[in-house]
Amino acid sequence: MHATHPPQCSVCKKALTPWQILAEQKNHTTANKSTNALKPQPYHCCGSFECSNILAKVSTMSTPQFASYLSFHSQNIIARETNAKREAERLAAQRREEDEENQTTYQHYLQNNENLNRLSHPLLVIPSSSAPLIPLEEDRKKNFTELLQNLIAQASEDGFTYSDEHKINEKKCQDNNAYLAASTALSSINNQACTLCKGGCCTQGYDHAYLTAATLYRFMQSENGHSPAMVMEEYLGRLPEKSVDGSCLFHTQSGCALTREMRSDVCNGYLCDNLKNFNQQFSGHTNEKNGRSGAGEPQENINKSATRDSCPSNKGVVVKGAIIKGAVVISRALDNWRNQNHSGNNQIIKTVVIEPSEPGSEKT
Ligand code: SF4
Ligand code: SF4
Ligand SMILES: [Zn+2]
Repeated sequence: MHATHPPQCSVCKKALTPWQILAEQKNHTTANKSTNALKPQPYHCCGSFECSNILAKVSTMSTPQFASYLSFHSQNIIARETNAKREAERLAAQRREEDEENQTTYQHYLQNNENLNRLSHPLLVIPSSSAPLIPLEEDRKKNFTELLQNLIAQASEDGFTYSDEHKINEKKCQDNNAYLAASTALSSINNQACTLCKGGCCTQGYDHAYLTAATLYRFMQSENGHSPAMVMEEYLGRLPEKSVDGSCLFHTQSGCALTREMRSDVCNGYLCDNLKNFNQQFSGHTNEKNGRSGAGEPQENINKSATRDSCPSNKGVVVKGAIIKGAVVISRALDNWRNQNHSGNNQIIKTVVIEPSEPGSEKT
């Protein structure tokens, strides 16, 4: 006896779900009733936009033409999906391997430092920005100047109002910073981690630095008030001579060349996944007497940016009532975004302990 297989989509060859089969039968019955033509249904469709569009061409071509059109697109879709699946498996394997290496390195680090343990110093894995500084090209300055002029013009229009997108970013920024505002210890750990990372999430700031008309409007309205000409001067005056190769034009080796007030909400509010998870996990687990408000930290140089996620994964141990004294930070070679697709060598470049009351003390 042969097992009956569910029908497959004629394009992508995915098996149809019972719901898709029912929906197809219903459509078929309705079509037959309306045309009075009880023809068998030759093609099945999974219902995706792409497959539906391809099958919709059946009525516009001769049978042999359509057969070859269908075969061409079907092969392309199947090849693309096979590649995507392989890539997802490669990423998952790479992540598992890195997770294991992180844990082994962490374990080793704790064994060699008897005053540290999993409860007092959980693991935090961060990316890094390790590209060299290069002179800022005239083309990039020109692009930025044009963008700035455009944004200032928008921000200066009568009746300028914040867009919904701006409000969403502002809310994200507030949410992410709420943990830091509530804990000077956590805030200090974040500052030190970002300083160590050197802006691994700034690498997609390119020539726009995530600036929007809303950022400029807010800057114009700020305490001392800034005329459009002053805004232009302030931003252009902060363009560095050299910035990190392939990164945001304000990204220097000592951090962001803009003040926090001049940065977008995206920049001020972004935290890579691991730092965000760390804050969520250990918020309420710090001894605020040990903390300090980022004293001595280069507050202007906190490197936070961008909109997307993903740093190497982080695993901390949270025990009710336990107080963390710091973190063991493993810094990996790739930046925040290249970490997502593991494009390149992502070796561990540093293992460091950071504590709110002490600057990061490098061990290995
Ligand atoms: S938030 Fe950005 S700068 Fe800070 S550790 Fe994550 S990637 Fe690095
Ligand atoms: S924080 Fe500064 S360096 Fe980083 S993306 Fe934003 S503007 Fe650029
Ligand atoms: Zn399909």
